[in-house]
Amino acid sequence: MKTIGIIGGMSPESTVTYYQTINRETNRCLGGNASADILMHSVNFETVAALQRAGDWAGAGALLAESARRLERMGAQVLVLATNTMHKVAPAIEAAVSVPLLHVVDVTADAVKKQGLHTVGLLGTQFTMSDGFYTERMNRAGIAVTVPSENRQAEIHRIIFEELCRNRFTDAAKQYYLNAVNELAEAGAQGVIFGCTEIGLLLKPEDCPLPVFDSAQLHALAAVEFALS
Ligand code: GLU
Repeated sequence: MKTIGIIGGMSPESTVTYYQTINRETNRCLGGNASADILMHSVNFETVAALQRAGDWAGAGALLAESARRLERMGAQVLVLATNTMHKVAPAIEAAVSVPLLHVVDVTADAVKKQGLHTVGLLGTQFTMSDGFYTERMNRAGIAVTVPSENRQAEIHRIIFEELCRNRFTDAAKQYYLNAVNELAEAGAQGVIFGCTEIGLLLKPEDCPLPVFDSAQLHALAAVEFALS
């Protein structure tokens, strides 16, 4: 079993999902009391969020590259960056280490393709929904991406940072997200990507009228598959 390095804390709420899913899936595969071999560095999320707000992506990249180096020095054999948004700086992380970084967009695209879909809706932070780093990589994988209107994006983004990342889950937020999913379906989406690792804590696949691709779950499962391969 390979050692999985998790660059976590973005936010801590969803890093719990990664830790739990990786361990449970490892146990499902190996049986007995087996659990995963994990190293984790959990960053201060306020530091990262402040760099995002300032548009200092180079600074954020340097911070996460250092986190990746620390995990590699400690023996991580594969890295998982437990956030979609910060994959905007994936190239800086990849350049800092020699172990592979499992890219969340690639993992999610594979799951979409496996279900034979070609057009999906995307929910995530405004950075993820509006910046090319996510949607262009999806497009290169042959998947068209539909995003909510600008107004919806702003509120979805606000809820992520002011509520979900702070462990606040309300019926109002859930309904807001469901309305956004319905609009994506009306716009032709065949499935919806939870492209923010906290969304799966608010909405369950059974709440949604479309097939769901939950990035945190898919990413954690891919880490186990890699670690056991
Ligand atoms: N966890 C979120 C994501 O998957 C948002 C927090 C962040 O900006 O890293 O994008």
